Formats: sequence, C-alpha cells, structure tokens
Amino acid sequence: MGSGLSPDKRTVGRQFPPRMTRKTLRAFFYAQLLTVAACSNQGLEPVRRESTVMGTFVSVTIFDEHVRREFAQAMIDSVFEEMKRIESIATDYADSSDIGQVNAHAGIETVSVSKEIARLVEESILYSETSLGAFDITVGPLVHSWDFLSDSPRVLSRAELNGLLPLVNYRNIVWENDKVFLKKKGMRLDLGAIAKGYAVDRAIALLKRRGLTNVIVDLGGNLGVSWDGTRLLDSTRATIFIRHPRRDGEMFGHFEVGTSGVSTSGDYQRYFTSGGVRYHHILDPHTGEPARDVVSVTIVAGDATKADALSTTVFVLGREKGMSLIEDLKDVEGMIIHEQGDTLGYMLSSGLKGRFVWGEPRD
Ligand code: AMP
Ligand code: MG
Repeated sequence: MGSGLSPDKRTVGRQFPPRMTRKTLRAFFYAQLLTVAACSNQGLEPVRRESTVMGTFVSVTIFDEHVRREFAQAMIDSVFEEMKRIESIATDYADSSDIGQVNAHAGIETVSVSKEIARLVEESILYSETSLGAFDITVGPLVHSWDFLSDSPRVLSRAELNGLLPLVNYRNIVWENDKVFLKKKGMRLDLGAIAKGYAVDRAIALLKRRGLTNVIVDLGGNLGVSWDGTRLLDSTRATIFIRHPRRDGEMFGHFEVGTSGVSTSGDYQRYFTSGGVRYHHILDPHTGEPARDVVSVTIVAGDATKADALSTTVFVLGREKGMSLIEDLKDVEGMIIHEQGDTLGYMLSSGLKGRFVWGEPRD
C-alpha cells in the first residue's frame, strides 16, 4: 500500500547517508572535525545511534558534553520509542491507527482521533490553504494507486488519474475538535509529508526536557537541530550537508544553522523510471502526476514539522511560486535545486545567500 509512512526500499533523502563511507563520515564532521579531535583528548565524543522507523532511517546524535553516555543512550532509546508511537497513530498502512480509522470510515462516519493527530490534520489544512492546494493530505488515493514502492510500479493513465482526482481535495475534510470526517467514500488521508517532521519535533522536545540541548535528530531527511553553542564542538552553529540529488553518496553543498528544523524533499527519494521519465512520490494534487519543476527543496524553519510540510509544498509549487512563498514567510529560508540543461542549478532565499557553500567539502 503506497504511503509516505510505508517501509522504504530505497535510501531516502537524508543529509547523512545511512551507511557512512569514510567520505560521508568526514563530511558529517567537516567543520567540526578539529574541535572534535581536540575534545577527544579528554575522551569526549558525541553519542550517536541509528535505527529505522516510519519506513526510513533515523539517527540521533547528542553533542552535550557533560552527559553520562548511559544516560544519552537511554534518551536515544526513548526517542526511538516515541517515534514508533507516532508511527502507530499516523500511518495509513494499518486500519488500527487513527489515520487508518479515518480512512476506513470515509464517506460513512466521523472518527475520534488523538489530539495530536487532530492538530496535525488542522495544521496540514493550513498549509493547503496557504498554498492553494499544492500541499494536500488527501492525496492518499493517488499515492496508493501510483504505488511507488511496488516491485512493478506502472504509469497511471490520464483516465485513471481523472477518476481519482475528485477524491483529492482538502476542503472535503471535516474537522472539529478531535473528530475527523472525510466527506467522500474512497478518500484517504496520507500524513507522509508532515508526520516525520512532527516526530522529529517530539524527539527534540523530549531530549530538551531531559536537559540535552545540543542534538541533531535526522528522520529520513527531516532534521531537528537543537544547538546552544555546544561546548563539545566549540561552535555556535551546526553544519548541514545537502545530498546531491543525482550523485549517490555525494554532497551538493552545505550551510550552517542554529536551533531549527531542516527538511529536504527530493525526486530521488522514491521513484521509478519508465520510458526515460522519472515518476516520483511528490504529487501535484491538481493533476495527480509527479510535480515536475524542481528536483529537490530544502527548507530551514523554526521547527521540523513546518520545514517538512513546506519542503513538500515548495516542491509542488515549483521555482517561482515556491521561492515567493519562502520569501513571504517569516523565519523560513530555503534552497531549490532544479534541472538546467544537462546539469543542476539552484536558487537560494535571501537569508541563505552568502551562507550556502556549493560542492563537496574540502579537507
Ligand atoms: P516529503 O518527502 O516530505 O516531501 O513527503 C512526500 C510524501 O507525502 C509522499 O510519499 C506522499 O505520501 C505524500 N505526498 C505526496 N504529494 C503530496 C502533496 N502534494 N501534499 C501532501 N502530501 C503529499
Ligand atoms: Mg515534507
């Protein structure tokens, strides 16, 4: 069943690839390497662990200096547990989840959901309104039919897409307090474009409550950065590397951020090719087809939920409308990578100009 929270067969978009080669490991610690080396004299190193959840890879890195390693490890266990809990209510894979229940009762009756799912649905509708429907969590029937994770995915015909499009419209979500109803039978919610960011924010909040203030959580390319100028790395900013959308294992460039959410949506994350055309998982709800204008969007925002929702939104809106939305929003910055002849070009929002460094990190 195609879904944003389904198990992923490919390495999905992440700033730090799952199996770190020497090169990417060096890239990860690029700006911080010297200070890490200096600290390691005193036996200080970040605590880092990886796992899989919500159909993708997760890594948690704790840079706080005065924290017992056992405590840091226990905190990472709690983060993984919390993410599994969110997956269990947000996935549209299982009928037992809140979203599964809403979908199973589409066109039939209202379903009570947990407060946090109700809030996520509400927030999603706000992004739909802001983007005039470029972001729309009712894309479920399209995602399901495209089935990008199938072993033998196929291109949907215009007639098939036209048959599905009447089911895709956020205006047909009726939301009140903690109850959700989908007006038409066959409608399906899919939180794949926002739930990972939310899980990252929950993880950061959990770690903060326990006194950890220098951490990076990466869930499938959705990063939560909490950075108060870590003592361990002697740096007031964290360096974020952006994956090259067309060259596996290579970096497109990097920039530094303070406490924030950073999310990337890319056409290389889930896709198949047919007749030389790439069909990927970020869909234009107005046509039912993959959005075509860009190949990757990275958003820096105040939190990861916002960054996640906006990276998908801007991807669908494309260069012109997408960049103008970024510029209109306060405290939001972004980078759009697009095809330019045989190569790739990129656009930066005004706040990232002068901060983004293109290319592989040098030694
Ligand atoms: P992301 O990787 O955050 O850009 O999210 C992509 C996922 O969100 C897809 O795998 C779908 O499950 C879902 N999705 C695809 N297109 C849209 C859209 N236009 N609005 C909202 N969700 C979408
Ligand atoms: Mg997203």
